[in-house]
Amino acid sequence: MQPTSPTLKNVRYLFTDIDDTISTEGKITQQAYDALWRAHDAGLVIVPVTGRPAGWCDHIARMWPVDGVIGENGGFYMRMTDQGLQRVFRYDDVARTGFRQRLQQIREEILLKVPGCGIASDQAYREYDLAIDFCEDVKPLTVDDVAEIVRIFESHGATAKISSIHVNGWFGDFDKLTMAKQYAQDVFGVSLIEENDCFAFCGDSPNDEPMFAYFKHSFGVANVRQFLPQMKSAPATITQSEAGAGFTEVVDAILRDRQTMS
Ligand SMILES: [Mg+2]
Repeated sequence: MQPTSPTLKNVRYLFTDIDDTISTEGKITQQAYDALWRAHDAGLVIVPVTGRPAGWCDHIARMWPVDGVIGENGGFYMRMTDQGLQRVFRYDDVARTGFRQRLQQIREEILLKVPGCGIASDQAYREYDLAIDFCEDVKPLTVDDVAEIVRIFESHGATAKISSIHVNGWFGDFDKLTMAKQYAQDVFGVSLIEENDCFAFCGDSPNDEPMFAYFKHSFGVANVRQFLPQMKSAPATITQSEAGAGFTEVVDAILRDRQTMS
């Protein structure tokens, strides 16, 4: 990776996507997991920000060497505290139940109109969204098919975002960036708006776009290049390596600049 400019010496918090950013072909490599631990031990605070479901995030918050996790594209965050697992939702239980009922109708329409797609295997563990698999456990769909899934969600007034494996659709007003701002304020007591220089973000796909646009220190792992033609906001820096190896480059770059400072 080219030395980034400006310097990363003030970065204390790294928000990062998980799929195809930390993970590589569906696994977290030894190298990438080691990067998480090295960051942890060096005091670089990591918060994964993912489209993955509440069920996964419960595990991540409890067991990974991270401060906490933002899940379902910003619908909630979870983190371990002295009082146990803290779960902060954007919408309450009643609202979430209503959202899920409305998504049921959309689910039938998508399965009927887009042959070959599937319901994501982790759907049962979701609080907010309907995740349509176009690449994880099904044969990869065409770009047009993926666009049709998005169109159906949007025709019902739902928000739809494309990750590297799923189209996630939901009701409610939230996204990864909104929840990252809330997390920074609630947990760190630091304004992401006023102290942008203290934060970095790393991701790989179109659902990371609001983050790429907002963070001064935004990184895309090299596999983001395949999505650039359909994205309006590109990351400021693109790593040389793909996926977990690219994520490791980002952690190393931040730790290196922080060391230079001390
Ligand atoms: Mg991803």
